[in-house]
Amino acid sequence: IVHWPIVASQRKRLSWVQLAGHKGSFKAGEEGTILKKFCENEKLCFERLRGDVLQPFVPGYHGVVEREGENFLRLTDLLGDFDGPSVMDCKMGVRTYLEEELVRARERPKLRNDMYEKMLEVDSEAPTPEEHEQRAVTKPRYMQWRETLSSTHTLGFRIEGVKRPDGTCSTDFKRTRSKEEVIQVFRDFVAGNINIIKTYLKKLEEIRKILGSSEFFMTHEVIGSSLLFIHDHTEKAEVRLIDFGKTTALPEGQTLNHQVPWEEGNREDGYLWGLDNLLQLLNSVAKE
Ligand code: ATP
Ligand code: MG
Ligand code: MG
Repeated sequence: IVHWPIVASQRKRLSWVQLAGHKGSFKAGEEGTILKKFCENEKLCFERLRGDVLQPFVPGYHGVVEREGENFLRLTDLLGDFDGPSVMDCKMGVRTYLEEELVRARERPKLRNDMYEKMLEVDSEAPTPEEHEQRAVTKPRYMQWRETLSSTHTLGFRIEGVKRPDGTCSTDFKRTRSKEEVIQVFRDFVAGNINIIKTYLKKLEEIRKILGSSEFFMTHEVIGSSLLFIHDHTEKAEVRLIDFGKTTALPEGQTLNHQVPWEEGNREDGYLWGLDNLLQLLNSVAKE
């Protein structure tokens, strides 16, 4: 009797997984929370989300805490209510860098050998003859090239990582681009269970509706944010919006439509376009 709470908390800690981001940017928190490395921008987002219709669809935010001299955002662990969950991180939008980052990268068009090497690793034919000659590419070139590998450009979202119930994780989706490939990853993810796909569809439709009336969503450029899909063997399934590290408020009075194509300067992120593609794709899986 004395021992089981310890076991339970250990079990929770062990079941937590991180499917993106730098290792070491998360710590276990107390009582069903996790600690994410502090980011001022993300903190501001969580503060602005307070009272927004979107709030129930994002992790609970419990303020800033300090651990060993470092600051963290304390967030509700979304896996806490699940038993041996399967988890998928889908990064939303037609681009995953801010316009501002592109501008900054262009201001200092330094030739980068490391980025050229990374490019070569993936596709030896990607660099132009000139880039091969220099054995280097510029950062904006690399940023834009990278986005064409996955479904980010073509579908408005990409799969970042999956954790299966046996505990194994896979983050090897950098070149998962076609509808058929994405569908196959989802099929494997639910192990063919269409009930779970149907629940996910319901949750996504609800999110789609809420986004249409969210003041926060309307007034922010939502870049690099993910939908986190979570389910377990009981067929319980949930979808939440996470990661607001790059989500940026627009100037006063400006709004985004989140559906029209991005042209540099309009700050559009294609979030809703991507969500609609995701809905369509899961609908086709549900009807199989
Ligand atoms: P990146 O910007 O590279 O995507 P990041 O450092 O901003 O990474 P997040 O994307 O917020 O980190 O989170 C990384 C991973 O950690 C997610 O894919 C998810 O697996 C897990 N995670 C994040 N927040 C939560 C949460 N509140 N509950 C459960 N799991 C979470
Ligand atoms: Mg992320
Ligand atoms: Mg992030």
